[in-house]
Amino acid sequence: MLYAKVLVDIANTNVDKLFTYCFDNEELSVLRGQRVLVPFGAGNKKIEGYVLEITDECEVSNVQIKRIIKTLEPYAVLKNDQIELAYWMKERYKCLLSMALRVMIPAQLRGGRIKEKTEALVMLKEGITVDDVKASLMSKNGAVKSPKQLEIIELLAQVNSKMSVKDICAFIPNASAAVNALLKKGILVKSDHVLFRDPYADINIISTKPLMLLEEQQSAFDAICDGLDKKSGVFLLHGVTGSGKTEVYMQAIAKVIGEGGQAILLVPEISLTPQTVERIKGRFGERVAVLHSRLSHGERYDEWRRILLDKADVVVGARSAVFAPLQRLRLIVIDEEHESSYSSEHSPRYSANEIAIRRAKLTGSVVVLGSATPKIESYMKAKMGKYTLLTLKNRANAHKMPNVEIVDMREEFQNGNNSIFSTKLVNSLTDCFNKGEQAILFINRRGYSTFVSCRSCGYVFKCPNCDVSLVYHKYSNRLKCHYCGHSEPLPKKCPECSSPYIKSFGVGTQQVEEQVKLLFPEIKTLRMDMDTTRTKNAHYEILNKFYNGEAQVLIGTQMVAKGLDIKNVTLVGVIAADASLFHSDYRSAERTFQLLTQVAGRAGRDSEKSGGEVVIQTYCPDHSAIISASNHDYEGFYAKETAIRRSSMFPPYSLFLRLLFVGENEEELSAKSEKYLVALEKVIKNVLASQEANEAELMLMYSAPAPIKKREGLYRYVIMIKLARTKNTAQVLNAVYEYLEEHPCELLLSSEINPNDMI
Ligand code: ADP
Ligand code: ZN
Ligand code: ZN
Repeated sequence: MLYAKVLVDIANTNVDKLFTYCFDNEELSVLRGQRVLVPFGAGNKKIEGYVLEITDECEVSNVQIKRIIKTLEPYAVLKNDQIELAYWMKERYKCLLSMALRVMIPAQLRGGRIKEKTEALVMLKEGITVDDVKASLMSKNGAVKSPKQLEIIELLAQVNSKMSVKDICAFIPNASAAVNALLKKGILVKSDHVLFRDPYADINIISTKPLMLLEEQQSAFDAICDGLDKKSGVFLLHGVTGSGKTEVYMQAIAKVIGEGGQAILLVPEISLTPQTVERIKGRFGERVAVLHSRLSHGERYDEWRRILLDKADVVVGARSAVFAPLQRLRLIVIDEEHESSYSSEHSPRYSANEIAIRRAKLTGSVVVLGSATPKIESYMKAKMGKYTLLTLKNRANAHKMPNVEIVDMREEFQNGNNSIFSTKLVNSLTDCFNKGEQAILFINRRGYSTFVSCRSCGYVFKCPNCDVSLVYHKYSNRLKCHYCGHSEPLPKKCPECSSPYIKSFGVGTQQVEEQVKLLFPEIKTLRMDMDTTRTKNAHYEILNKFYNGEAQVLIGTQMVAKGLDIKNVTLVGVIAADASLFHSDYRSAERTFQLLTQVAGRAGRDSEKSGGEVVIQTYCPDHSAIISASNHDYEGFYAKETAIRRSSMFPPYSLFLRLLFVGENEEELSAKSEKYLVALEKVIKNVLASQEANEAELMLMYSAPAPIKKREGLYRYVIMIKLARTKNTAQVLNAVYEYLEEHPCELLLSSEINPNDMI
């Protein structure tokens, strides 16, 4: 008898621990990481669970050990390193172990909601020859009755392998009845064949060879190879748009595969277009698996199984592909490492970057974080030597960086131009269309309509305590700060210039499209936004049309900013560069810089043409994010931004912890969060006192309604805690979590550090 420690798949704190079951290993083989069905609780309800340990000694006594009922798959669904990783996630993200394990397997696997797809194949029964069959057809009592049956047998004899009925019908129309008759007589035999649904069966793959690396690429590649040989290292590959980062990734992946290893390449969900997949499959062929959320459940399950059953060496995917169950993982690449989509918004609220680094440690792999605009935190880590910095300063192909012009929209307004296009942009569009080239118009909708500014002078309402803009709350007609809770009524006039034109600024893609059509009636447009990309392939179809030149201008939101590589695009217009600047988030300057750099990188990708042009329209032409982006100056932006973060004590110099309480009863909610606020303040102050630390390390602490106070019928309250980053931070956090664990509250929905989303 052997014993298995099983975690039952129930998301509940009380059962988030291992229960011991037994199994007779002569009858049932059970592996670590396998899913099993076990009787659970007093009623012995059948529950699915994960086997996390196997022992030959039973460590529990005085209770009757129950037996495992059966295994759910014939293989382990979790690798050893994934189990270790799950334990780490439980600690790090304060989530249940069962929740950590759930993100590692396809959701539909649980509860047996998905099955393998099989296809019946038929073949001639061994020993039967075409001559036998012919003889049978001649004789009166023979088994074979019709010429069609004979045809089928001749076909199978000819191809000399198994065939599906569908394939047979392609040669011999309407053959299925005859096949069935032959099966009945035992002349043909049937077997089931497992099919892997291929989401990219229809795309046309052109195979590519590695390019000769340029000098900068070569040194980056060499450094990564060094890491691979040493089985450790985190590299930050900072390369301008079009510098050939992808080529470096691909050659590093090729090295890994050549040495018998496997690799994961993460790309933002939005850039997981067939073009990206084509590029990777073109280099690595069949043994590429793809994982992202737009696949059907069946496709995703099949791709995951292909990985698990060692039919793939490269996994390309979005965030959760970082958990791909590869056995010989050696390399994890995260492209566009600054993308916020690498952080999960659901429990467990993990960051793919952190997971990659942790998983690499567990498996002896190397991590490559790539970006033209790394996160401030990442770049700081590289500067401090925690990551190895690799730099690509020049575009591959000797393309010039595009020329960027900033247009001050306040001046346009004062000169009587009320339109959403500046004179400059209209002229550039005219030129571009006349030359038969293409343009992209980018509308920055992040933070759309949440900040309030003056159209006449550009004044933006800011918090007097924090260096972030205030958010307009419609229901109370007030402006509020999400970091310190400051609030004030919306004034009728601009405090700077007394203009009454104060409004939340924002234009939509539709509005821009209408304006383009008015100005250029003969020009064909394409629009890419939430509305036009609802269906599964819409995103791809729009891009394809644009690639094929079916329209001269592509109008879109964030979606058009990523990864497009279209040679004929020579002009990029940014309609409202500011919208993301005044999002009420301390990262808004960083995000604006990243976005502008990304969109600007779409222009001038053809060496034949003269570098391309970018027009940035803005109400704050002096902002460092806009100036630095226009000069392609990451270092400059980094220096300014870190100085601001330091002086206003924003992360990474401090840390925000946000607890979200959700419930039906507002009074109860408010009282509860108030109670926890008082208790936690005591907890924190005690820790600080015990460390003889300065009390001011607790910089701020308040409880208040969330910016969106009510959502889906439930009220939402938050506790915000701001801590200076010191040697005591970890201990303070642990004390807070410990308190929350000892005093659980069913209204506490989540706790998050430096949340991406403050609403
Ligand atoms: P990034 O990922 O840094 O934005 P890409 O990898 O997309 O850049 O490369 C931009 C362009 O440069 C692509 O068309 C690519 O084929 C080309 N390229 C990359 N490396 C080389 C090289 N070593 N020699 C020639 N062309 C290259
Ligand atoms: Zn004003
Ligand atoms: Zn504030």
